[in-house]
Amino acid sequence: MEEIKCLTGETAWDTGLRKVLADSLNRPISIFPKIWNGSKGLTLSYPALDSNPNMSNCLELRKGPKGGPNAFNFFATKRLKPGDVVLIEDACFWKISRQGLFELCDYCGADAALALMPCMECGLVFYCSNACHKAGVSEYHWFECKVLRNHPLLTSTTSLLMLRIFATGYTAYKKDFVALYQHFLQMTKKNINPLRVYNATDRSAKARYDSLFAVPLSTALKKLYDNDKQIAEDVDQLFDCLMETVQSTSRTGKSRCSRAELSKLLKHYAIILTRNMTITHIKLEVPLGLNAASGEGSDVLQGDRCGTHGFYPLLSLFSVSCNPNITLISTASNRLVLVATRPVAQDERLTILGYYTFHTTNREQRQAAMQEHLKMVCECDACVYDYAMINPLPELTACNEDDLKKLAGELRSIGVTDPPYSCEFLWIQTLFQQMLTYRSSMRLSGMIGYVDTACWKDIDLLAELYDTESRQEN
Ligand SMILES: [Zn+2]
Ligand SMILES: [Zn+2]
Ligand SMILES: [Zn+2]
Repeated sequence: MEEIKCLTGETAWDTGLRKVLADSLNRPISIFPKIWNGSKGLTLSYPALDSNPNMSNCLELRKGPKGGPNAFNFFATKRLKPGDVVLIEDACFWKISRQGLFELCDYCGADAALALMPCMECGLVFYCSNACHKAGVSEYHWFECKVLRNHPLLTSTTSLLMLRIFATGYTAYKKDFVALYQHFLQMTKKNINPLRVYNATDRSAKARYDSLFAVPLSTALKKLYDNDKQIAEDVDQLFDCLMETVQSTSRTGKSRCSRAELSKLLKHYAIILTRNMTITHIKLEVPLGLNAASGEGSDVLQGDRCGTHGFYPLLSLFSVSCNPNITLISTASNRLVLVATRPVAQDERLTILGYYTFHTTNREQRQAAMQEHLKMVCECDACVYDYAMINPLPELTACNEDDLKKLAGELRSIGVTDPPYSCEFLWIQTLFQQMLTYRSSMRLSGMIGYVDTACWKDIDLLAELYDTESRQEN
């Protein structure tokens, strides 16, 4: 069974949440399993596509609308329910954040804080076993190690992930820089069908490297990044460190690795990562019942304290929105599970969160952020119709009845029937009670979006509640 470590502890679950739910819904407590059944949640909700075992056959990749931000988009081919699992994807490349260095194995990602052994050469990466050490060294670390030893100050996340990608590709192409570059040229010239390039079953280093090119970058997009300061900095930082190591190791000799070519290759990686890097394996130990948003009185680790940064080619093909209908759930093995957070109509475009959700940030700020970081103008419903912000987000744990009614009224007045006004880690028990009390005024489907990066238990329960709600409506 897949181990679920994302975001929550067991506290509230064990201290009566099951009972509260069972009582509130007037249903036997046995409906809510004591221990969440991981095997249920981590499988696709529909049969897998023949061409891709990671994807439910409720998804279809279609060319994006003209002028849209993505060349491709995923659409639903049938009606989806909240909680439906549409895609399960393992990271193609990932790198542990600095804070997680002493907790996670660099090769397999296992949480092995007390058992980790450092690479004796550089002392900068840690492995859980000899087998992982050996595999890591032969796939990429032999190269990384040389680079890191000479440049211990190479610290930018993007640069380190680019280094991992380069080292893996360079090794897979047998230390032949010319062959690696030729492959890059071929792939970037092709008219790509992403699902064909992405090989879901072959997890070899070479197949994973080649999957990088499942995300086609248009010339126009590359132009937009020409003057991007951050990308230039990341490429520069890595370039000098890399060049000398490539020249001293390349099978095809020193003269065959041109500065211009290497720089072009790195820029391609950098653009892909800038647009598509995702933080996963966020090891927040959040006892339910504490409000992590404020951090007050909790021992919650903030931000990506112990995360990994990863690249997921299939995830990259989803459109982004400020009012998304799909949420990402990360598990302990750098696996992402994509789940519908509200009902999705047939032929509706599936979207993940772009930058900020509409309820916390106004359109101007959202669009500025997306322009700066993703070089795109968001065309989601929240942007087109300029949904009003709900700010400040009411502190629901302390909300009284009047506040809740006011909130429900505000939501209705701006025409939001499915508001994903997420505020992660709310006091979930209170949340459920509120949901039950106010389900007539605040649709449960909307509340499901509440749990923006939720744990599986929440999703299951929310789906359950949603079912109950629909039955009562009918
Ligand atoms: Zn390991
Ligand atoms: Zn090393
Ligand atoms: Zn938007």
